[in-house]
This record gives sequence, C-alpha cells and structure tokens, in this order.
Amino acid sequence: MGKLLSVADISVSPDHYIDGQRVSSTRYFDLHSPIDQRLLGQIAEGLDEHVDQAVSAAKAAFPAWSALSAADRKVFLDRLAEEIGKRADAFCQLESNDAGVLLSRMSHGVVPRAMLNITHFAEHALSLQDRPIDTAQAHHIVRHDPAGVTAIITPWNAPLMLGTWKLGPALAAGNTVVIKPPEWAPLTMSLLADCADAAGLPPGVLNIVQGYGATTGNRLVSDPRIARISFTGSVPTAQKIAQVAGANLVPVSLELGGKSPFIVLADAHIDKAAATGALMYRNAGQVCLAGTRFLVHSSIAERFVEAMRGYADGLRIGDPREPETEIGPIIHPRQVERVSGFVDRAIADGAKLLWGGKQHPFGAQYYSPTMLTNVSQDSEIVQNEVFGPVLTLQTFETDDEAVELANGTNYGLGGVCYGDEGHATEVAKRMETGFIWVNSFGIRDLDAPFGGIKHSGIGREGGDWSFEFFCNIKDVVVPKKPFEASFSQR
Ligand code: NAD
Repeated sequence: MGKLLSVADISVSPDHYIDGQRVSSTRYFDLHSPIDQRLLGQIAEGLDEHVDQAVSAAKAAFPAWSALSAADRKVFLDRLAEEIGKRADAFCQLESNDAGVLLSRMSHGVVPRAMLNITHFAEHALSLQDRPIDTAQAHHIVRHDPAGVTAIITPWNAPLMLGTWKLGPALAAGNTVVIKPPEWAPLTMSLLADCADAAGLPPGVLNIVQGYGATTGNRLVSDPRIARISFTGSVPTAQKIAQVAGANLVPVSLELGGKSPFIVLADAHIDKAAATGALMYRNAGQVCLAGTRFLVHSSIAERFVEAMRGYADGLRIGDPREPETEIGPIIHPRQVERVSGFVDRAIADGAKLLWGGKQHPFGAQYYSPTMLTNVSQDSEIVQNEVFGPVLTLQTFETDDEAVELANGTNYGLGGVCYGDEGHATEVAKRMETGFIWVNSFGIRDLDAPFGGIKHSGIGREGGDWSFEFFCNIKDVVVPKKPFEASFSQR
C-alpha cells in the first residue's frame, strides 16, 4: 500500500479503490498544495492493469446493482450521503488543501451540495416509473434501463461537487461507476471511497482509479466495456474523448469551458451589477460558469467601472483556510503561467489594464483580480477561456450590438444579464447559451438542466436530463390484438 497522507491531521489513502479494496500501484506521483506548494504526499498512478481491474469489477457488480429497485438503491445512497456528512470537516480540509478552495465555501456550499447530489438523485430515481403509451395497436411500456459501467472524469476546480453531481444519478439509475479524479486534486474522491466502504456499498459499484488524464483517463474512456462517459473539463480533452467515444459509439456527456458574457444594460442597477461582477473572481476565476466578458452600455460604463473597481479592490486574497479570505490560490504553477501569459499578450496587443495584471504579493500561486479593456472581439483574450481571475470589458450602444458581442465566441455555457427585469429577460432570451441568469448569478437547482452549447459542451445534466443520459430508454411493445405474421405488413 502507498503511504497514508496526513493532511491537516486527516488520514487519506493515496491508493485506488477497486472492487471494495484499496489497491496500490508500482508508481506514485507527487501532490503539492496550491496554498504554499508544500508536498502533501504521493498518489498512486493508475496503470493499465488498474483500469482493467476497475472496469471488470464494475462490470461484475452491474447485474446485482441494476437489479435492485430504485428504493433499495436509495437505502445505500442515503447511507453514502450520511457518511459524507460524518466526514464533512475532513472533506473541507482536503479540498481546501489540494485544490485551494475556500474552507468556508467548502463547509457552507460544497459539502452540503455533495450530499444533496447523492440523496436528491436517489429520490428522483423513484419517479422513473415505466411510462405507458396506449395506441390503437398496442400497449407500449417505456422503460429507463440502467446503461452499464459509467466512466466519470472530472477537473480539479471542483472535484467533490462535480464528482458527486455525476455519481449520484449514475448510481441511482442502476449503473456502476469508475471515477478517474483530477491528478492535481485527487484527495476528496479518495475519501469518498472510505464513505462508500462505510456505507456498505457492494464491492465494484463504485471504483476509483487515480492517475493522469492522458494515460489512466484515456485507458478508462477507451475500454470497450464502458457504456457511458460523463466528462467535465477542457475543450481539447473533450475532443480527444469524443473521438474515442465516437470509435466505440458510446454516449458521452461533455461539460466544458466557458467565456460567458456579463451584460450590463443602461437601465441596470449599477452597484448591484458591480457587486455581482466581483463574484466572477470567485475561486480565483477558476469557475467554468463565470461571466468573464463584461459588455457594458457605453452610457454607464465609466460609473460601472468605478463601482466594480471598488468591489475588486476590497477583495481579500490569501490562505483559503482563513475564514476572512475571499480569493485563494491558482491550482498549479502551470496555470499561473497560463494566466499571466494571457494577460501579458493582451497588453502587448493593445489592451488597457484597469486593475490587477500581476502576481499577488501573498504568494507565488496568487494572482491579483484583473480587468482589461480596449480589447477587440477577435482578440485572444476575448475569444479564449483564461480560467483565472481575469475579466475583459467592452462597451456597446444597442441591444443588438450587445447580443452580437455576447454570442460572438465559440463558447456557449452561461451568462449574466443585468438591467430592468423585463428588458434584461428579453436580451437574455437571445443568448446562445445553455443558461443565463437575469439580475443574479449562480442560482442552481438539481432538477434544472445544466450544460452548454457550441464548444461549451454536449448534453444536459440535472433532473430528468441526467437519467436520460445514464439510462437506456426501451420500448416494450405488447399488441392489443393477436399478431398475425405477414410479409406485407408494414
Ligand atoms: P482537463 O480537460 O485538462 O482535465 C479534466 C480531466 O480530464 C482530468 O481529470 C484529466 O486528468 C482528464 N483527462 C485529461 N486528458 C484526458 C484524456 N485524454 N482522456 C481522459 N481523461 C483525460 O481540464 P482541467 O484543466 O482539469 O479543468 C479545467 C477545465 O474544466 C476548464 O476548461 C473549465 O471550464 C472546465 N470545467 C467545466 C465545467 C462545466 O460544468 N462546464 C465545470 C468545471 C470545469
């Protein structure tokens, strides 16, 4: 076995979890904290044999797990959520230490949401009754059959939230699962394996294989026994996974990046819009659904910039474990380089820095909240996801122009629109996105559809949409009159 990690006095396994057992590797990789770059320990690297074992275990567990009623599965899943709740503090500490997420956000938002991701979908699955369709010819019984072994791959910016958001409906639907957690933030998924064990989940129902994306992740999604691939991450990775899924003809759900507009109409409440605008720096901007392109009516642009500058200046940057901190670190030195590269190139290209634009004195992996203006629609900084605390500001004169700018990228995840409610709602309806918030930000409901269009993804998760993805829809047709076989019959 690998050496147990001790992070904030919490013991967590570095190993895989396969068929109800911890499984070690012959290779381990270093895991550092983004807070201060200290070494947290070594994590097992998933080799081909580990992926094969995990998929075999999930395949073997599938018949019994899928044969349970939704109510019986709910008993296990409610216990799994309870076990998460018992370890709430440990989950908070682990994700704050390996992903740099605010401890306060973990305890108030993420851990309760992770539990709900399990219990809510377990409950929702009870409503997946056979649906009858009665026609003149036949009774149809439309069923949601579990799909099989599901591969779940998630990114480092919200490993617990995103892992459970997929795991909840996949298991509730009757599938068995193999998760490949993000290599830069793998600890909370390892603790989740302890929860599965304590909850008595049958061996093989949930398997976790740690490792890198290009090797372990690729091996997992390429396994021909995989029936569904649920992926959240970047566009280039999604394109690779989609190719593999295409070759194997496996349904794939892709939740990808964003470059969402934040529109401020002339009739917006400027201060409220600016206060919400500052939330786009949350998690150091490492949030897919943040509105990162500010499109502001020219008549209010100056006042808006000053209001937002006030909020941005007031943000407290520092150690995510401290209760007063509002912005923590960037996950990895490579991401810091990526973020500063985007800013430097934008400035060299003529962008004007309104604030920020440099590393924050708190530490090597902290970057000051940044706003750039004088950027053209076709520039790199406007067209590409930075995934850091970097925003751009453009102005517009008419609604048509705002809509054109808003829709003028390859992305289409979300957006924000501030203005008189009726006016903002009409503009919002014209956005080419999967969702858009009017005079608000971040309101989510587990029964509402979530996902993007264009390069922001394929498919929707949430409510019935999750089950449509994680199930095979089958029509059992029973004729009303005795069936007479005939070649001339249609
Ligand atoms: P990434 O695509 O580099 O990695 C995501 C996951 O995929 C990791 O676990 C990685 O190991 C794995 N992976 C990498 N290559 C793989 C391959 N060839 N086959 C299988 N798996 C592979 O993304 P990231 O940098 O970890 O995360 C940031 C991205 O995630 C951003 O683009 C962000 O917008 C996006 N994101 C989207 C959402 C959403 O819901 N739309 C939510 C959070 C993050």
